[in-house]
Amino acid sequence: MSEKINCLIIGSGPAGYTAAIYAARAGLKPVLYTGMEPGGQLMITTEVENYPGYPKGIQGPQMMDEFREQAERFGTDIRYAIINKVDFTGPVHKAWTDGGEELHADAVIISTGASAKWLGLESEKRLTNKGVSACAVCDGFFFRHMDVAVVGAGDTAAEEAMYLSKLCPNVHLIVRRDEMRASKIMQERVLRTSNIIVHWNSVTDEISVKMMLKQSASKTQSLVNSRLFRSRDFS
Ligand SMILES: Cc1cc2nc3c(=O)[nH]c(=O)nc-3n(C[C@H](O)[C@H](O)[C@H](O)COP(=O)(O)OP(=O)(O)OC[C@H]3O[C@@H](n4cnc5c(N)ncnc54)[C@H](O)[C@@H]3O)c2cc1C
Repeated sequence: MSEKINCLIIGSGPAGYTAAIYAARAGLKPVLYTGMEPGGQLMITTEVENYPGYPKGIQGPQMMDEFREQAERFGTDIRYAIINKVDFTGPVHKAWTDGGEELHADAVIISTGASAKWLGLESEKRLTNKGVSACAVCDGFFFRHMDVAVVGAGDTAAEEAMYLSKLCPNVHLIVRRDEMRASKIMQERVLRTSNIIVHWNSVTDEISVKMMLKQSASKTQSLVNSRLFRSRDFS
């Protein structure tokens, strides 16, 4: 048995709920599957300050509650399940839930987002939103006028480092090998920026809050004195 759906939305982050609001108001009766992270990535953040309409900032989970309410208000059918298979080869778009239901949809909007590629350290988890961040554009402002560190050597790390170099006195880029993976042009930009200090052949194996709070003038200490940005390579 399959269920016929007009407009299937996969994902319940800002993109999914935005699509749902528009689709519902257009009379498309959207059905939205939340996936394993109802509300998406903003459910794990605290203060969101860069969305228009929230002049005093808002907590991520509260904002996502409001997105959900707005989508529901126009009749979005929200379901708490995961889509674990799709088939878009035929004239009807097919999708299957983790509960085994088969869905046939005229239109499918995929808004499954992305997730930050964390280092996987226990200390990183503990200090997330307390000086450790996965998004320079989101959180850099909180750490302006402070030294920061970025872990990574790809294009994302290079972008984050460049962005932070305009806000922070020093950006320490911690690179595992003796070369960067970033595109040539991004590497050149990073290496040309005087307040980005690259630490080659350096592995980040611990983040310490004590060290982050300690004041020191020496180069090594100022590195551990930094706030940490994990480059958001998307997985
Ligand atoms: C710690 C942190 C802090 C951040 N702070 C800010 C900030 O202050 N300001 C800012 O602008 N941005 C911030 N961001 C970035 C922001 O969260 C993302 O840009 C935004 O969430 C992307 O929205 P999205 O809807 O595309 O995807 P996501 O929020 O990633 O949502 C993806 C959704 O897809 C669902 N999904 C995935 N797979 C399936 C599946 N198979 N079936 C069904 N559903 C599925 C998930 O359950 C989830 O609901 C932050 C991110 C993090 C991690």
